[in-house]
Amino acid sequence: MSDEIQVLSAVVADRIAAGEVIERPASIVKELVENALDAGASEIEVAVEAGGRDGVVVRDNGRGMSPGDAERACLRHATSKLREIEDLEGIGSFGFRGEALASIASVSETTVLTRRSSDDAGTRVRIVQGEVAEVVPAGAPVGTQVEVRALFASVPARRKFLRTPQTELGHISDWLQRAALAHPEVAFVFRHGAREVFRHPAVRDAGERLRQVQGAARAGEMLACSGEFGGVRVHGWVSRAGVSYAQSKSILTWVGGRVVRDRVLTRAVLDAYRALMPQGRYPAVVLFLDVPAGGVDVNVHPTKIEVRFADGDAVYGAVLRTVRAALDDGVRAPEAPEPRGGASLVGNSAAAGGEGTIAALARYAERRPAPSAEGERVYRVRGAGSSAQGHVPAQAAMGFTPMASQPPPAHGHECSGEEEHSGFAARVPRFADLRVIGQALNGYIVCEGRDGLVLIDQHAAHERVRFERLRAAAAEELPSQQLLVPAVVALDATALAALRENAEEMQATGFEVESFGKGKVALRAIPASLDVSTDVETLLADLARDLLGAGRAGAAERRRAARDTLIARVACHGAVRIGDPLQLEEMQRLVADLDTIPFAATCPHGRPVLSELPRSEIERRVLR
Ligand code: ADP
Ligand code: MG
Repeated sequence: MSDEIQVLSAVVADRIAAGEVIERPASIVKELVENALDAGASEIEVAVEAGGRDGVVVRDNGRGMSPGDAERACLRHATSKLREIEDLEGIGSFGFRGEALASIASVSETTVLTRRSSDDAGTRVRIVQGEVAEVVPAGAPVGTQVEVRALFASVPARRKFLRTPQTELGHISDWLQRAALAHPEVAFVFRHGAREVFRHPAVRDAGERLRQVQGAARAGEMLACSGEFGGVRVHGWVSRAGVSYAQSKSILTWVGGRVVRDRVLTRAVLDAYRALMPQGRYPAVVLFLDVPAGGVDVNVHPTKIEVRFADGDAVYGAVLRTVRAALDDGVRAPEAPEPRGGASLVGNSAAAGGEGTIAALARYAERRPAPSAEGERVYRVRGAGSSAQGHVPAQAAMGFTPMASQPPPAHGHECSGEEEHSGFAARVPRFADLRVIGQALNGYIVCEGRDGLVLIDQHAAHERVRFERLRAAAAEELPSQQLLVPAVVALDATALAALRENAEEMQATGFEVESFGKGKVALRAIPASLDVSTDVETLLADLARDLLGAGRAGAAERRRAARDTLIARVACHGAVRIGDPLQLEEMQRLVADLDTIPFAATCPHGRPVLSELPRSEIERRVLR
């Protein structure tokens, strides 16, 4: 009987391997550009036709290849980068599998034209669907050009999976921009047919490249960050709280200079923004990580876009802390107006002279003690259902705990008018110094800032203040108040399950919920900070919905997220609404209270608390 098992021919094996590595034109661009970077190129030009379906050309001015290497490079497992298996430990170069070119050549017509600076003549190698068709001397500039045509002509099944040229172009462009971000010292040019899609001349640092890639406006919105934790170094840029995007692809991460998509990284980023992002919205993040040698395995995925970290906790911690610190730093109060007839009482000279207007919020705020209990009541809507019973003890009990973890510093950062420190850090902008003009459109507090108007969303602002105070107090269980008559609420099965699953967190937040027959729950107590007249039916439905969206991180992380979710909802339900009338003192109180909390720039659901109308904008509109 003859043997049935056959060793696959090299060409067939390459085509199978190609399926893993070469999924679409963008994969080709990725592999070729990585090779160009590995070859030390300082200029890389990419030209594609019909989204790469009809052709991809990558040209570099790197070190080039010898005639022999040029041919070998297109054969399976040819690589100059891996001599010893130990080399697998290093991730210094982008590729070391030695199969990218061979894979590409096995499913296309590939022409490599290359010359080293030490050679007089260059070499042209042509491979047609995996078979060497031509190896000849040829004139060529120093460097390498790889041209790929007739992609997947030999595997029509794969060709069918290609999307429209526009979609494929999007993938290529996204990928190239990421490569460009990580390599500011390399010039990138990208053409689609006759059109130049972008051109990024070489620049000195990543900040300049960020401006080239994202545009000055968007780049200017981002906060620089850097940090180290557990041997993991992180640096890059993150969008401010209050800015959000529709897609998670605005989160870009690199490890050791390589684009990486990773759950741990994404989770850490999102957790850093928790309570600063609306549901379903994402921050923009450009983060470069360096992990200690051996700290990451890049060979778990054929295209190396997914990795495995030896110490996921260190990576998570490093990213979370670095991003948090940057967000924290990015929070600054709008600047107060110049007092009439005198120098500004607020702002150190740097802050006052800097952006001129209104940027964000006072970071020093976290260090300030919260105002007294009476403070908050002043801007509670009077009348309007704010019945005193059940409410007053509640206030005495909670919500006014100073940010216990952050006591006010001994050296006064309180920067009140009478404290004339000569030190540069003595004064920072604060909300209390904004001049409250009045309430507009039934829900917006109009203030005058240093060089423009500031509009504060009264609901979002109050919600944020309540949220931060509740969160500070929630280290302990939050106090609750018994309802005189338990409220029985009917909910659907998913909602009930969500509440049941988070029973412990519900209780810690001040809710007492019991099941009450089929499809119903009885609510016996609610957080003390809520008004007894709260519409509990809506509240429970909202809570259940929030909890469902709260994600599936690890147990401890999930509990924390659930807690924040509940607190955010409680904060929202107890806050003044748009439409509630407020007196001037109430507004002043509320605005000043923004100084006492961190992250005042957004409400807990991530919506911005304030909007600025700079003088320049007003002048532009009136054509001054
Ligand atoms: P790998 O990058 O994993 O080594 P590739 O198939 O991508 O495998 O490339 C094979 C080899 O061909 C590389 O190791 C390198 O020596 C050579 N090579 C490929 N592209 C270039 C280039 N643009 N410039 C110089 N050498 C190249
Ligand atoms: Mg390679």
